[in-house]
Amino acid sequence: MKGVMKVAPGVGNVETRELPEPSPSVGQVKIRVKAAGICGTDIHIYYDEFKVNPPVVMGHELSGVVAELGEGVTGLKVGDRVTSETYFHTCGWCRYCRAGKPNMCAERKSIGSHVNGAFAEYIVVPAGLVHRLPDNVDFLAGALTEPLACVVHGALEVPHLIPGELAVLTGPGAIGLLTLQVVRSAGVRVVVLGTDVDEERLSLARELGADYTVNVQREDAAGLVKGLTDGFGADIVYECSGAGPAAQQLLGLVRKAGQYAQVGLFGKPVTWDLEQVCYKQLSVTGTLATVPSSWHHALRLMAQGKVRTGPLATNLFPLDGWPDALAAFEGRKGVKLLFQP
Ligand SMILES: [Zn+2]
Ligand SMILES: [Zn+2]
Repeated sequence: MKGVMKVAPGVGNVETRELPEPSPSVGQVKIRVKAAGICGTDIHIYYDEFKVNPPVVMGHELSGVVAELGEGVTGLKVGDRVTSETYFHTCGWCRYCRAGKPNMCAERKSIGSHVNGAFAEYIVVPAGLVHRLPDNVDFLAGALTEPLACVVHGALEVPHLIPGELAVLTGPGAIGLLTLQVVRSAGVRVVVLGTDVDEERLSLARELGADYTVNVQREDAAGLVKGLTDGFGADIVYECSGAGPAAQQLLGLVRKAGQYAQVGLFGKPVTWDLEQVCYKQLSVTGTLATVPSSWHHALRLMAQGKVRTGPLATNLFPLDGWPDALAAFEGRKGVKLLFQP
């Protein structure tokens, strides 16, 4: 089978290679991958900015069909349409594993970085990671379950939302457009901020339910937010762009005693006026990836149609299309890029 691999440490060293098909050991499931999303992490892996264990097949956002069951697997059958959580191995007994926070486990080994991932025709994972896709979720939409689960954890499970509140969100990319929908599902109004390069994404944000969108290069975000909140400011702000100036701008838009949630990753230190956290008495939250409950919430939101991930799946590539996919990602083409192995 073909697989897109990080073949050696260093910048670059990503190739499509011919590999033996994996077979499931005891307790494992072999999945025929139908769609696999390209994440910022994969770009960081390309640039050697994210720790991996090469040679390894990349990719951790997938949907597919159960192709074979290892010994002892029950509750799934060949042909089931599925997605998979990403923690191939955790220790199971550290304080975090025992507290239901496997994302904090020091022994965590994830697909696509430490264990062969989803940019291939087949992947093998422990059965306990596999979830069936709801009937109304196709393979492209289903491949976005992982980023949606990340957003559920960062935007819904950790901050505290009250229906009727106002949220402001920066960065209308895939993560921002998922955050928008997750936050709206909780009955919170959402203002999405972007710049000139985001015009198409802002119009997609409106289609997906944004109450207001603002091009901050042309319109007055502060005036709008004040007008909507009796002059107080946003109850909660979500930074989804991973851009320092956006993080700084949100400090000005959040109200006193409000919440600031960092969802995007910057990839470098940024300038941020931390003192405002005291003056405004802000609650600041950050999250890493997912916990098991995030997947249940994500799949339920998709099943009920409260979050639509399909419209974000904009650009599709074959497994030998990595160079094109990389160029599209860096040219900010589309919203979510996916392989169809
Ligand atoms: Zn990801
Ligand atoms: Zn652990």
